[in-house]
Amino acid sequence: MNLDFSRSFVEHREIFNRGFWIKRDDCIHQYCNGNKARKFAGLLDSTHKVWISYGGNQSNAMFALAYLALIKGVAFHYVMPSFYGEPVGNLKMSLGFNMTPHILPFGSSVAQLESYAKSLCFDNALFIPQGGSVELAQKGMNALAKELSQSIGGSPIIFYTSGSGVGVVALQRALDSYFPRASLVVLSCAKADLEQQFLAYALTPPLILHSPFAFAKPKREIWQMREYLKSRGLVCDLIYDSVGFYIIHRHLAMFENRELVFIHSGGLLGNISQELRYKIH
Ligand SMILES: *Cc1c(COP(=O)(O)O)cnc(C)c1O
Repeated sequence: MNLDFSRSFVEHREIFNRGFWIKRDDCIHQYCNGNKARKFAGLLDSTHKVWISYGGNQSNAMFALAYLALIKGVAFHYVMPSFYGEPVGNLKMSLGFNMTPHILPFGSSVAQLESYAKSLCFDNALFIPQGGSVELAQKGMNALAKELSQSIGGSPIIFYTSGSGVGVVALQRALDSYFPRASLVVLSCAKADLEQQFLAYALTPPLILHSPFAFAKPKREIWQMREYLKSRGLVCDLIYDSVGFYIIHRHLAMFENRELVFIHSGGLLGNISQELRYKIH
């Protein structure tokens, strides 16, 4: 059993009057695709019978892990903060995949979720930190770098969105090995201090461009960018890739005369709950 990376093809799109090669990682799998497929593919080799993780109650990571645990026959425990109303979107689907939720009070901090998740751990359980880990992500990111080198080649700019930073650190390491002429440009949607994470892995940090928006909060500009991208034939999520293109648009003049690649980071089912939040606002 495997995630089929060969389903991720490359297509050309005209966006902001520039040509982009789009790496369609959203096509890898219906449930586990994009960033999460790349980062968690290594888990398919794991022999643990229990996985324990924590984070938001609509997280794409939760959903991807719940699916992988189901197909591997692993028990998956996930610690999250409480929520209002009936489960929807990623949470509803994860519960449908037999995930065991551990629900802490409203407003529990990430540190509280993490320490509760650690308290559930025992010898044969695999603890998966929020965002995963660079070591776990390396297998899928190596494959991504090789695919890009083979299908695109040259010395392009490669844009990739980032949250925890785990994905872009593992991708930079992979590019250094398999596609050193490519230049990664990070579109940071959540974190201000990503440079540190590259330094911690003894990497020269790539160019990091930051979102002007609060992470995952509904914003008219993000919705409008999603609609524009749709009109160009590209369907993106509202938390990462629509924000990513907003950032690119602001800085496009920096990338004249370069070949541009955008790695679709997937997570389109996350739009279910995020669209509901836009309707309320
Ligand atoms: C998780 C996620 C990211 C960010 O990944 P990190 O490795 O945490 O930086 C980007 N895009 C989508 C759709 C995601 O689900």
